[in-house]
Amino acid sequence: MMQSRYDIRRNDQVKVIAGRDKGKEGRVLRVFPGKGRVLVEHVAMVKKNVRPNPQKNIKGGIAEQESKIHVSNVMLVCPSCGPVRIGHERKGDHKYRVCKRCGTPLDK
Ligand SMILES: [Zn+2]
Repeated sequence: MMQSRYDIRRNDQVKVIAGRDKGKEGRVLRVFPGKGRVLVEHVAMVKKNVRPNPQKNIKGGIAEQESKIHVSNVMLVCPSCGPVRIGHERKGDHKYRVCKRCGTPLDK
């Protein structure tokens, strides 16, 4: 398994700490480990022209979609502390992420 240097994973709840959407929170939709970028739900929305395609029942017009942001611009959200730095702990062979502040495991 490839270990991401940043340790943000799909479905993580993250907070944006820099950039245009600073302060927003959302779920990670996709991670691009090689590029160090992530797609976060409702963050960095961009408008995109969509061509009508009647076969797929697509009307066409302008749609909004998420664009990639750099993973260093987000922080993982701990359910009790908010945005935190990630620590690591090991239980036998199992390595998991913990909140650096309160120690709560952040992996299900
Ligand atoms: Zn915590």
